[in-house]
Amino acid sequence: MLDYQAILEEIHESLKKTENTGEVASYIPELANIPKNKFGIHLKLITGEDYFVGDASEKFSVQSISKVLSLAKAFQLVGNELWKRVDVEPSGNPFNHLSLLELENGIPRNPLINSGAIVVADVLLSHLKNPKEDFLDFVRELTHDDSIQYSEKIAESERITGFNNYAAANLLKAYGNLNNKVEDVLDFYFHQCAILMDCRQLTNAFFVFANKGNCLKNVQHLSSSQVKRINSIMLTCGFYDEAGEFAFEVGLPGKSGVGGGIVALLPHCFTIATWAPALNAKGNSYMGMQALEQFTTKTKLSIF
Ligand code: GLU
Repeated sequence: MLDYQAILEEIHESLKKTENTGEVASYIPELANIPKNKFGIHLKLITGEDYFVGDASEKFSVQSISKVLSLAKAFQLVGNELWKRVDVEPSGNPFNHLSLLELENGIPRNPLINSGAIVVADVLLSHLKNPKEDFLDFVRELTHDDSIQYSEKIAESERITGFNNYAAANLLKAYGNLNNKVEDVLDFYFHQCAILMDCRQLTNAFFVFANKGNCLKNVQHLSSSQVKRINSIMLTCGFYDEAGEFAFEVGLPGKSGVGGGIVALLPHCFTIATWAPALNAKGNSYMGMQALEQFTTKTKLSIF
């Protein structure tokens, strides 16, 4: 058996010696205040063992990582109907890109870019009785942790600077791909992005995607076919316009967020989350990408 703790410590030591050239996201003012050199990794094996180093139990804003969880909930609720409103192709463009949306008549390229996640949020608004509460309950259930909360401060910070997301939602509305009010859909979307979690909680939440649709408590939330599809979307679309690079360097399905988190998984084997808030030019955690590249290289555990 591999000595996972020693491997995580080696990675931590090696990254301490690496110059962190990334920058913390500042377009959401609340995120700009996070110290650049925070760093944590948490690894959870499918057999239940946990290993961690650094700031793995410090909470941060999960941002776009939440898009996988909202996708899972919408897919659970409406099944394949979802694909009439959002496609499953990589966009090859930044997360907030708008011109493709216009070219493709209001059908977002995939559910992990902002416009796609806004459509998914609209689906949840139409199907959940108390959307924000019910979605938070879903995340808590997956994670088996009732302490998870939205940060109202971060949601508000995003709302007042969310011009791109308002533009995307308005375009979607104009193309008839948004059933609820722009303001209501974005209120939900800004809150889902503002969920606070630590690396350990993220590995617990994403356990369902490594375990054929069964969460930590072995409750089935998704079918194994749905999990296959969500994992494939993470692999091809989970890292903005760097999904190819992540597949090439790391070789796992995963998702990053501008809060500096990354979560990735190897089906039937493990989930792993990193947090390092400084981002590279493509918006992915600079140190997190390197940590995961080292992890799959050292352990030889990837899907390829
Ligand atoms: N809430 C962020 C936005 O809409 C999400 C960005 C991200 O993490 O990719 O801009």
